[in-house]
This record gives sequence, structure tokens and C-alpha cells, in this order.
Amino acid sequence: MTESPQVSLAEVIAGRLRDIPDFPTPGVVFKDVTPLLADPAAFGAVVDDMARRRGGHVDLVAGIEARGFIFGAALAHELGIGFVPVRKAGKLPGRVVGASYDLEYGTATIEIHEDSFVGGERVLVVDDVLATGGTAQAACGLLEQAHAEVVAFEAPIELAFLHGRQRLAGRDVHTTLVVH
Ligand code: AMP
Repeated sequence: MTESPQVSLAEVIAGRLRDIPDFPTPGVVFKDVTPLLADPAAFGAVVDDMARRRGGHVDLVAGIEARGFIFGAALAHELGIGFVPVRKAGKLPGRVVGASYDLEYGTATIEIHEDSFVGGERVLVVDDVLATGGTAQAACGLLEQAHAEVVAFEAPIELAFLHGRQRLAGRDVHTTLVVH
């Protein structure tokens, strides 16, 4: 990252996103964050920004598979707190609790270990992209069902035209680069 301090974090992210048309299915423009991850200053700036906002207010970070693991685990490390993976069905080895939610075609299921929380831990949920919000909504509900207190949801990128915020109404939601 070589930009001057005047360049906003949203611009930094936008400059390191790669649009991949028709992935994973025709008509979808996939926001590929691998160039952002490959730039240590830009990746660090995104994590630092989340840490400034959330430091002292959360006890754990929960990351959504798979790219939420990357941002979420880096953030948890920076804050000196633990990390909880929210995984796709069938991946976790222990006893799990899960939540299913609708996709455009079919359904998906996410899972966490049933003993992820003692109860009342303040948790920040992290993903890379807020799209329709279905995954984030299911993740927040699942963590609450497992007795965590979901403090907020963060993603560096929001696809506003998919109206994911509506599904997270009433929650503290922060995104940095909002794509209209
Ligand atoms: P959602 O529609 O909000 O439930 O998004 C489902 C998952 O797919 C989330 O983990 C997003 O990070 C990811 N995702 C959805 N749409 C895109 C996209 N256009 N580019 C990159 N990731 C996406």
C-alpha cells in the first residue's frame, strides 16, 4: 500500500478487489479479496480499523467460513481474544449445533461446536462480504441460540444492492466499502 493518508480505507479496499464475472454461477460478479490479502499494509489497515472500533467491547470473534476466518482470526489475534469458526455443515469434529437458511436455490447449513460459549460472551461476527445477509443472519441467530451475546457484524465489503442490512435490522452492522 503506497497511498497518501488522504486515501480512504474504502478506496484502499476498492483498489485491491478483483471482480470475477460469472463466478461461481452465471450472473454473479464475485468480489475476490485475494489481492487485498496479498498486500500486507492494506490487509493490516482493514484489520486495524476493525480493532480500533471493537477493541474492549468484545470477548470473542466468530468468523464465517471461509474468508471470514481470514479477517476474523487476524482481528482476534490483534485484540488478544479467542476465535470461533462458524463452519459449513459436516466439518467440525465435535458435537455441533447448526442453523439452516435459504439460498437462491436450495438451502445451506452452518454449524458451531455446541460448547463454543459458556454463556453471555460478547461476540463480533466477521465475514468478508455482506451480500444477501442470509449467512450473517443465520450465524448471528445460531450464536445467540448457543448463548452468546452478538454485539455486532463486520465485513470490509457490502453489496448494498442485495439489501443484506435489512436481514440484520436492529443489529450493529459495519462495512467499509459499500458497492451500489
Ligand atoms: P450472503 O448472500 O450474504 O449470505 O453471502 C453468502 C456468502 O457468500 C458470504 O460468506 C459472502 O462472503 C459470500 N458472497 C456472496 N456474494 C459474494 C460476491 N458477489 N463476491 C464474493 N463473496 C460473496
